This record gives sequence, C-alpha cells and structure tokens, in this order.
Amino acid sequence: MPHKTKYIVITGGVLSGLGKGIATASVGNLLKSHLRVIPIKCDGYLNTDPGTMNPIEHGEVFVLDDGGEVDMDFGHYERFLNVVCKSEWNSTMGKIYASILEKERRGDYLGNTVQLIPHVTDEIKSNFKRIAKQEKADIVLIEIGGTVGDIENELYIEAVRQLGREIGSKNILYIHLTYVPIPENLGEHKTKPTQQSVKLLNEKGIRPDVIIARSSRQLPLKLKEKISLFCNISPEAVISGTEVGTVYEIPILYDKQGLTEILHKRLGIYSPPKLDLWFSLTDAILNPTREVTIALCGKYTALHDSYASIIEALYHAGAHHKTRVKIKWLETTGIEQGKISVEDELTGVDGVIVPGGFGLRGIEGKIKVIQYCRENDIPFLGICYGMQLAVIEFARNVCGLEGANTSEAVEEGIEVQHPIICILPSQKGLKKKGGTMRLGGQDVKMKPGTFAHKIYDADYIRERFRHRYEVNPEYVEKLKSCGMVFSGYEPVENIMQIMELPDKRFFVGVQYHPELISKLEKPEPLFYEIIKCALDNPDNK
Ligand code: GLN
Repeated sequence: MPHKTKYIVITGGVLSGLGKGIATASVGNLLKSHLRVIPIKCDGYLNTDPGTMNPIEHGEVFVLDDGGEVDMDFGHYERFLNVVCKSEWNSTMGKIYASILEKERRGDYLGNTVQLIPHVTDEIKSNFKRIAKQEKADIVLIEIGGTVGDIENELYIEAVRQLGREIGSKNILYIHLTYVPIPENLGEHKTKPTQQSVKLLNEKGIRPDVIIARSSRQLPLKLKEKISLFCNISPEAVISGTEVGTVYEIPILYDKQGLTEILHKRLGIYSPPKLDLWFSLTDAILNPTREVTIALCGKYTALHDSYASIIEALYHAGAHHKTRVKIKWLETTGIEQGKISVEDELTGVDGVIVPGGFGLRGIEGKIKVIQYCRENDIPFLGICYGMQLAVIEFARNVCGLEGANTSEAVEEGIEVQHPIICILPSQKGLKKKGGTMRLGGQDVKMKPGTFAHKIYDADYIRERFRHRYEVNPEYVEKLKSCGMVFSGYEPVENIMQIMELPDKRFFVGVQYHPELISKLEKPEPLFYEIIKCALDNPDNK
C-alpha cells in the first residue's frame, strides 16, 4: 500500500499578522506524537526566497540546516514540531515560475500553451505530493501566506482546492484563521469580517472545516453558534484563538477546546498529544519566580520579528530557570550619535546580546556597548556580526590596533587600516547575492578546557551559519596573545567560530546563530548559560 498522506491546509482571512505560522505549528504540535508531520509554507511573492529581503518588512530570515534561507514561520515549525525542515518545504511563486520556465525551454510542454491553470497549479500540487512521498509524511501541513482575496496567493488557493477534489474530503481538512474584533465603542465581538472572509473562501470553492477565530477575549458559545450558522460549520469547529501569555500555550488552548478530536475524527487518525513537559515549561514561563533583564542591541529593533528566534531562545532558557526574561530594546544608532549614554542604558541590565546584522549603520554604537560590557563584566553574547564586532572592539581597545574594523566597511567606501574581520576566501569574487553566503549547518570543533567546551559538554557541535566575513586569520595570533580565546573553530578551513574572554563571567561571541536551534524542551546551551549568569548578577540578589 502506498503511504497515505493526509493534508491540513491553513488559510488566513480579515487581517495579516494574526499568527498563522504559530497556529499552523500548534496544530502540528497536537498531532506529532505518533505521526510524521511535515510543514510546507507557500509564499506568493516572486523572490526565490526571503534571503535578500529586508527583515524590517518580513521578519527574520530563518536559516535551515541544509542552508535554505526561508520564511520566519519555519522557526515556529521547528520549535513546535521538532523536525529539521528542508528548504524545498518553502514554496514561493518565484520558485514555481522559475521551474515552469525552465521546463518550457526544455520542451516539456511542447505543443501546449503554458497557463496559470493547469500548469502553475499542477506544479504546485506536484511539489506537495513529491515532498509528502519523499518524507513519508503522515500529515502535511500547508500554510498559505497572506490572506484570502490577495492576488498573490490566488494560485495556491486554487491548487489546494483542486488537491481536495483529487484526494477526497477524508484526506484533507481546511482550517481558516480569522479575526473577530471587539470595537471599543461597542465592547462586544463582531463576526461580520469572519463571515465575509469565509464567503470569499467559499467563492473560491473551499469550505473550511475549522475556523480559528482570533480575538482579544474568549468567544462565548452564542458567538460560536452564530459563526457556525453563517459560515456553515459545526459550532464545535469554531475555535477561540484568544490572546495568551506565551505562544507555547496555544496548542494547549486548542486542545482544550476539542480541536485534536475534530482533527482525529475528520481525518481518521489517532495521535493523542503528549503535552506534560510542554505544559510544565509553559507554566514556568507564565509563573516565573525570578526575573532578569537582557538588552538586545540592534538596528532592526523597530520590528521585533526581525529577532524572533533570539526572543524565543531567551524564553526557552528562562523557562528552564523559572525566570521571566525581560527584553530591553536598544537602538544603537542613538548611542552612536551620542544622544544616549551607554551607562544610562545599561543600568539595571543583567546581560547583553548583540545580534547579527549587515552594513555599517549603528555599528559604532554596538562597539561602545560591547566595550562597556567587557569593562564592567556584564554577561555578553555576540551573535555573528555581534561576535565580529566584539573582536573589533578587543583589537582596538585591548590590542591597541587603532582603526581595526571589518572589511565590510570597504564596500561602503571606508578605508580599513586593520581588517580584523575580512571576507571569507570562499566568498571572494562572488557577484550574485541570493543564497551565496556561507549558509546552514556546519560542524564546530571545540577546544578542550575552554568555557564553551564546558557549556556544550561536547567535542563537536553542529550549528547554523549565515555570513560572508570571518575573523582574519592573520590577526588570530595577535588577538590570542592579548587574551582572547578561540574556543570553537571550523576543523578543515580553520574559521574561528567561537571566541571568549576567560577572565569574564560570560563574554562569548559566536559566528553562528545559536538561536536557530533552540527549543522549549531543549534550550540552546549559550542562552541557558547567559540567563544563569544574569541571575548571578550581584545586583540581582
Ligand atoms: N555581516 C556579517 C557577515 O556577513 C555578519 C552576518 C550576520 O550577522 N548574519 O559576515
């Protein structure tokens, strides 16, 4: 018997930004105990992937182990589903059209006019089926980006309608995520936008089986009945998606309202959720006994989604210490311009993270923050660019290499006297920008006896990277002689991947992105440790 995959399609209505990715991940979380659940995200834009987009618009670029630069929803999927996702699970219209145009030139459609329907929809469906088969998936979750009615996602919606007809209603279930506002002057739930959104979906030939209605307050039964009547679904299948204290509560919220049983019954599956550990960690986030403040310094602080995985990684670590992690957002351009003093900003802060980034704007501010952390022994974690800037700060202020900088500055027309950070040899001469960085999972060899080796308790670790520059090998000896320890490196090309200052409580920089692999059940060790050190802050007792 061929493997029988069931599909769950998640569409959105009324508004964007309702947390469709988390809703999708939560549905998968409820089914993953006995079934192999694979997520596919469909994005209607014409970019191949989000790798070249500004994170301020679309949120962070998530990097997969296979090197794929994908939509940030993959962060939610990996955190909630415990699967290592693959880059082809992020379908974009850019990829779909590229593949069709290649086939057309090859002659695959000889004699035919290539059309949106059936050729584009067939391409979309055959990708779904190929992934389902390759992965031996029991359940494929298909999240369609945007909201119903957008021109951009029209063909994806048509493709999932066709898929439903082909495989039969027992094998596919449609969930529609909507919004039920409570206008301030009325003080009560209004269901009209949901009704209209479902109508729009009906016009496209899809009848939702489940409606998840986001709202600031719980939907009373009367309201569920009203939505049921107008939208032609049973009242039990209207799930209230209320605001919660933490996103990790969402699977629990859905399960309590009977969503798991509905999925089981409708799809003929059985996979009861195992939520015990999840439940106790969620409880630790909601009812912490202690508190720390971590400053997050970057230039994309205007959109917190640009740092989604770092925020989650901090919450994971906090849960394991039963500690609330308060995040203080620090826009470093203000510090750079001298409008804000570092000391004022960092008073009362128990730890500092300088995350990844590109370009020169705001970096002098970050360097000042790093210097302050080093001189005042504030726990510091530098991630990717944050590590590179920590090395520059050390070169300038400890090794006395005035004018130390990254050769990334040269791209912006600035002369660099000491290129402490230089382009990776493999990146030299690359002209194309899309998908060409050093990307994805790589091995890191740990140096025995170091702080990092102790934290990870392993000789080799695997972490995810996204960069073009590295610590300049020509300066490594000089940096070492001044007290910097390189505790993790790439074993073949000898790229420095972890730096630490051993005389500090916690001063670590990593060339990789540890936040990308952190999970609620298993926080990434660096985050676990920085929270531990932050809790030990003598001012925090
Ligand atoms: N801009 C730096 C580089 O390309 C750091 C990249 C990052 O922080 N992801 O190496």
